[in-house]
Amino acid sequence: MERTHYEPSPGNGRNNGRTHGHRTASAKRNGKRRVPVCPRCRENDQVIPILYGFPTHDAFLKADRGEVYLGGCEITPYSHYCKRDDREF
Ligand SMILES: [Zn+2]
Repeated sequence: MERTHYEPSPGNGRNNGRTHGHRTASAKRNGKRRVPVCPRCRENDQVIPILYGFPTHDAFLKADRGEVYLGGCEITPYSHYCKRDDREF
């Protein structure tokens, strides 16, 4: 496929400072984790997911860093935990 190459005639003064291909890079990401907001404080910066079942070594480390909340083997209807309010929801 060949496109018609348009060449502006020289000397018309319109060829100065063309912003060719300059686009604002949109940092739109769909892969961002969706964290629900806490029903109490309405924030999600302290909300971590609850991990059910027997925790793996990795899960223990994450729990130690406060990245996940170990829910144990008892499954509750809650899926997230707010560290600020110490509340599962
Ligand atoms: Zn909260």
